[in-house]
Amino acid sequence: MPTPRDLLQQAKDRITEITTEEAEGSLGQATFLDVREPDEYEQGALSGAVPLPRGHLEFQVEGKLPDKSAPIVVYCAGGTRSAFAADTLGQLGYTDVVSVAGGFNRWKDEGRPWAAPRTLTADQRNRYQRHLLLPEVGETGQQKLLDARVLLLGAGGLGSPAALYLAAAGVGTLGVIDMDVVDESNLQRQILHNMERVGERKVDSAKKTLTGINPDVDVATYDVRLGADNILDIIDGYDVIVDGADNFPTRYLVNDASLLKRIPVVHGSIFRFEGQATVFDPYNGPCYRCLIPEPPPAELAPSCAEAGVLGVLPGIIGSIQAMEAIKMLLGLGDPLVGRLLAYDALEESFRTFKVRRDPECPACGPNAGEIVIAEYDDLCMPHPNA
Ligand SMILES: [Zn+2]
Repeated sequence: MPTPRDLLQQAKDRITEITTEEAEGSLGQATFLDVREPDEYEQGALSGAVPLPRGHLEFQVEGKLPDKSAPIVVYCAGGTRSAFAADTLGQLGYTDVVSVAGGFNRWKDEGRPWAAPRTLTADQRNRYQRHLLLPEVGETGQQKLLDARVLLLGAGGLGSPAALYLAAAGVGTLGVIDMDVVDESNLQRQILHNMERVGERKVDSAKKTLTGINPDVDVATYDVRLGADNILDIIDGYDVIVDGADNFPTRYLVNDASLLKRIPVVHGSIFRFEGQATVFDPYNGPCYRCLIPEPPPAELAPSCAEAGVLGVLPGIIGSIQAMEAIKMLLGLGDPLVGRLLAYDALEESFRTFKVRRDPECPACGPNAGEIVIAEYDDLCMPHPNA
């Protein structure tokens, strides 16, 4: 019966060990695999190392390190677990694996470079468990969401579901612009608010609901009318804008300012039983002016207050906006850039239409003049460069 010491010796006989000095020479060339437990990894690791505890090695390594011929440097705390891990990797068909003798402890004692990696807390790991299970999101994606800043234009019908889902998903900073108060006649669709908040500022009500869902989220409120005088300051630093505006001058203003700041806008609009969503990614796809060069006459574009809207409809379109915002933040899949999604609730149908950049677009076209941010009148035409 072999002793543990015998097993270690047998493993070491089959693998290659390198010194910490040799390992440091491989930084930037080989993938470093950290096979210690999560609590050890969190206290300090080689930067860029892939964490994969020894106990999960066999079943997770192929997902994390798909190239079996690429060079891999395995380390643990002292060199024992990494020796067994290197041996196992060899049996799994990995051809260029070495183990660091002395491990991270020796590395650290010798003053070689390391850092405390940013990791999710135990509470966060629990909260975002269903995200972490998706390899396309994982811990890296969740960190990205926690670092992300999304600005919601309006805490109303579209902004409510979008904000709820973005907060729940762990988008770290949500900006909310709205200058209205909670009104009972809007609770039919504005699900961020409730009866106890009637008469309160909508931004304050939104903040209470969102931080109640997820204390990780920092909610920045803007109880102002979005205008030419403040838009550039407000949108500055946001990664994505979710546009739930209900009027044309604001949409054109947001379009022009977002082009100037190169911030993607996830657009949504609703009318009675129909809704639309698309993503305007500055200069990578069409902008709002490419899609709608000029606003329709007022009598053809009644607002929700005038025409009515079924309460569930903004829930569907706003949720699609939240989904598109998250896809943009994580670089996932095919966002609705250059495509307009049209939803008809009565038919229960979704259709997508291609939208192309307009070479004559006065805002994003190649011959467009310099963008000037100024208040728009009902025609919403870009202002000539003064
Ligand atoms: Zn355009």
